[in-house]
Amino acid sequence: MKILVINAGSSSLKYQLLDPDTQEVLAKGLCERIGLDGHLKHTPTGKDVYDADVDMPDHEAAIKEVLTILQHNHYGVIKSMNEIDAVGHRVVHGGEEFTHSVIIDNKVMRGIRACIPLAPLHNPANIVGIEACEDVMPDKPMVAVFDTAFHQTMPPKAYIYAVPYRWYTENKVRRYGFHGTSHQYVSERAAAMLNRPIEELRIVTCHLGNGASTCAVKFGKSIDTSMGFTPQDGLPMGTRSGAIDAAIMDYIVDQRGYSSKRVENVLNKESGVLGISGVSSDFRDLEAAAKEGNDRAQLAIDNFCYKVTKRIGSSAAAMGGVDAVVFTAGVGENSPSLRAEIMEGLEFLGLVMDPEKNNVRGKEAILSTDDSPNAILMIPTNEELMIAKETARLVREAK
Ligand code: AMP
Repeated sequence: MKILVINAGSSSLKYQLLDPDTQEVLAKGLCERIGLDGHLKHTPTGKDVYDADVDMPDHEAAIKEVLTILQHNHYGVIKSMNEIDAVGHRVVHGGEEFTHSVIIDNKVMRGIRACIPLAPLHNPANIVGIEACEDVMPDKPMVAVFDTAFHQTMPPKAYIYAVPYRWYTENKVRRYGFHGTSHQYVSERAAAMLNRPIEELRIVTCHLGNGASTCAVKFGKSIDTSMGFTPQDGLPMGTRSGAIDAAIMDYIVDQRGYSSKRVENVLNKESGVLGISGVSSDFRDLEAAAKEGNDRAQLAIDNFCYKVTKRIGSSAAAMGGVDAVVFTAGVGENSPSLRAEIMEGLEFLGLVMDPEKNNVRGKEAILSTDDSPNAILMIPTNEELMIAKETARLVREAK
């Protein structure tokens, strides 16, 4: 089965054509600057890369370019569109309505639209991506895979904020969580690597990239996660503050004369490790600066690691123990030194890192010592594969 996976942003569109059964990736690519001038980078497996400016006035034009290049006689990987069995779309917010992936129909589109106030930047872009595919490939079955769905198993005590209950019932204010596809994928892979049923494992998954979140996955289900009503909650990230005292907002409005919109923007785009260090939001730059003696870069790293360490501890408490910790995403997959700093002091949970095994990048590995009571793993995330698998499963079930 060949599945086209689409991840549409406001001016970009990432795609991958893959077979979820063999896990073979036929091609992947990125359309950028949609609505401005347009650029397409198309990487077909085993063939030349196509990297050029291409006119893309809107998402429909971008999808058309993607389908054209996929069938191109030099850069293409399929002979005709008939070879594409279905399309899987990443959708950021599914609110409380979507607890699983679903085949897209009119009712589902209404549901995704109803979630726009919860994700005003992301859901409209996802909708545009779906509509563009519908226009260009009206007969292909399409599936929506939500970033929030995996966390819908959280119990009320985990997702409720201690604010007036009517904010929840009338305004939908609650913890939703994000990165669900990634947390689900790596927790399932962890169970497979440990050769144990996921139904008996308590796993803390740490998705540490430019955006960062942890998840307590108990017996295969998310029971708590660090991101909340928005991705702003929880851990400090590249440029996001993570959880802070809500009173700081008003205080800064008074002290610095900012509008609340401006404070929100600073908390999203000028905070996190960039805000503390003043150096960069990229952990590679921070590690290099810290090595050269930059104290604020070191402080940003230490603050980040300290908060991830605490989240692993609190997730273990939420699950009544922990059998495995999993690292994934840009930082989690590539930085042995940050992983080591995060795990320092967690030996009391039976999590003992092996420094040599930890010296690994980019491939699945067990990082804990052979006699560590519990496991530490590194698993490269693969949201596209998860979306393709979900799409194939639903399309097969519908037949
Ligand atoms: P992601 O959002 O998952 O793509 O992760 C992107 C982030 O991963 C980058 O901003 C970097 O901070 C981080 N990253 C990538 N490679 C490395 C590395 N070798 N060492 C430390 N951090 C890295």
